[in-house]
Amino acid sequence: NILGAEEQNHDDKNRNQRTEDDVTYTNKNDIKRLRESLPVYNVRSPLLQVIRENQVCVIIGETGSGKTTQLAQYLYEEGFCMSGKQIICTQPRRVAAMSVAKRVAQEMGVELGDKVGYVIRFEDKTSRNTQIKFMTDGILLRESLLDKNLDKYSCVIIDEAHERTLNTDVLLGLFKQLLSRRMDIKIIITSATINADKFSEFFGGAPQFKIPGRTYPVELIYSKHPVSDYVEAAVSTAMQIHMSSPVNSGDILIFMTGQEDIETTASEIRSKLLEVYSKKYQITRHDEINDVEVFPIYSALPADIQSKIFINFEGKKRKIIIATNIAETSLTIDGIRYVIDTGYSKLKVYNPRIGLDSLVVTPIAVANANQRSGRAGRTAAGTAYRLYTEGTLAEDMYIQPVPEIQRTNLSNITLLLKSLEINDILKFPFLDKPPTQSFISSLYELWFIGALSNKGELTTLGKAMTKFPLQPTLAKILLLSSKNGCSEEMLTIVSMLSIPQVFYRPKERETESDKARMRFFINESDHLTLLNVYSQWKANKFSKIWCTRNFLQYKSLKRVHEIRAQLKQLMDINKIPVVSSGKDWDIIRKTICSGFSHQSAKLVGLGKYIQLRTGMEVKLHPTSSLYGLGNLPKYVVYNELLMTGNQYICCVTTVDPFWLMDYGSLLFDIKRVKEINDQYSANIFHSYGYDDSSDDKKEIDLIEKKLQ
Ligand code: ADP
Ligand code: MG
Repeated sequence: NILGAEEQNHDDKNRNQRTEDDVTYTNKNDIKRLRESLPVYNVRSPLLQVIRENQVCVIIGETGSGKTTQLAQYLYEEGFCMSGKQIICTQPRRVAAMSVAKRVAQEMGVELGDKVGYVIRFEDKTSRNTQIKFMTDGILLRESLLDKNLDKYSCVIIDEAHERTLNTDVLLGLFKQLLSRRMDIKIIITSATINADKFSEFFGGAPQFKIPGRTYPVELIYSKHPVSDYVEAAVSTAMQIHMSSPVNSGDILIFMTGQEDIETTASEIRSKLLEVYSKKYQITRHDEINDVEVFPIYSALPADIQSKIFINFEGKKRKIIIATNIAETSLTIDGIRYVIDTGYSKLKVYNPRIGLDSLVVTPIAVANANQRSGRAGRTAAGTAYRLYTEGTLAEDMYIQPVPEIQRTNLSNITLLLKSLEINDILKFPFLDKPPTQSFISSLYELWFIGALSNKGELTTLGKAMTKFPLQPTLAKILLLSSKNGCSEEMLTIVSMLSIPQVFYRPKERETESDKARMRFFINESDHLTLLNVYSQWKANKFSKIWCTRNFLQYKSLKRVHEIRAQLKQLMDINKIPVVSSGKDWDIIRKTICSGFSHQSAKLVGLGKYIQLRTGMEVKLHPTSSLYGLGNLPKYVVYNELLMTGNQYICCVTTVDPFWLMDYGSLLFDIKRVKEINDQYSANIFHSYGYDDSSDDKKEIDLIEKKLQ
């Protein structure tokens, strides 16, 4: 079995490298020397003085100056945990939270999860002993629901605040209100850019502390002409650098948009390398190449693989790292001398008019471009290859990126704020106000799924939904499934929906893997197909070999298993019964329909659907198991809308239109829409595209007549 062998190889390599990693960092003196060589070390005492004298302060420093790894340790050394309270440090990204916690544990010579730990969604690596805790900003936000005053904590470091994630922005708003209730708490905001004035002003003139940095000059090389294929351009630039400069002259960091582009780039570089090396050194296998290694890095990668990028090859081997914008500021990798910047990143963009979130490849802002180039000049002078023209930078790029709060769906946040009894959300202290239209649309969505009452107050269902770290709709189907007697199955489905992808589709074996996938198809529903995959894996004793044989990602399924266990625990804690529906899978589809009736579509032509709420034309995703039905079903609900040129609905379930009427009565009751419309805003009705004379209405009338 080729795949099995490959994986084996891979594992072996991991093991070797892990030992290398350990060897590099077990020496206490080495660690001490490294820590003392960081810029922040030189200003340790004035920095701590500012923190001691102020409730809030803003710390500014170049990437790599030691903010993330040192601050929490300094506070710990200064006795901020003496009172039994903990020091926490938030990160916008899961990857960073894990990797930094690991690093700090190493530096302190303690086991990860003991004195130093981390918490990310569905994974808690802390214990009763934990005193320094790294967590994502989303986790801290959820913790604020349970403990409004954050009484467990003495210091909160909001790291990477300049990233302006939605969660960080909301946290800062909450802190503004917390300060007077917790006079003893320290809030430390760190920011990599000069954009720190905003934070100071927000906290009534909080002092700024600048860590003097050292940077080396970076030569900027722009493309002469606009690049048509940035993956191809990045691959050839990387090859050029590698072939024309000695291996010990520095590592290469490529900024790509997301997982898919990163994997494509990695595999193309690998095959180009093999091509060149086989001509030059008569080698035939990739693992014979010993002076260069390609490292993809993105959040869905398992932690052990991610941490390999920190291995120090001491100039004997060149690293080519391909990363998302995580490498802009939150991870510092030493030894980078060449940066290749595609000029793009993947951003979540929300269209409140159609209620649609989509990931879009977007040009970066000038601030990001500078941050990216800067990565090449941390340890010595470097070069940044910008795969765009100088004109593009000047004319087409924003100066600063748009904060997430202004371009995202706010349903989650609205629900959280409502449960914190912050009722007039438009009056909440935001660093930058979100668009009113986004709020209205989130209120509407929450009302529609039953989380808010007609008066806009949190309902019992809405309150229950906040108990789960899930999107409101997923929380809802989980809760309803218990009432409907199928929560055992729904737990699996919701867990499966919480990970990126379980099916494995290697480039060379597409047909074979597609066939394997089809064997799991439950024709009525992609959700049930996912349930089927998990059930069969369970029946095969959660076997790894079975996964490989069936083109399933073992690591993803294992994660599903863990997520499921955690959700199950939450169900138990909240006394929500977990019951199985046995062979009755119709009730599962019905429950899914009840949660997703606002994401329903109707067949209108050959393979063509329209979204019932918006009238937008959508297509069934090519991987859907519904194609197995022969005739496509008339009505469906879907989990996600994907915009990739075409608008695809993904993870789709066939439903009975009568169910849609039962659960999504709104879609069929124009009068009620009008009531709500008056209540929330005069815009809603039109913005959702309701039109009494539309075909939908006719069809609805027909169904209504039939019912009478
Ligand atoms: P900042 O937060 O100011 O950008 P960091 O504290 O993240 O700086 O990094 C300080 C130093 O620690 C850098 O030289 C970086 O390379 C190193 N470092 C950080 N994380 C790791 C890790 N997981 N393994 C090895 N070195 C690390
Ligand atoms: Mg940092």
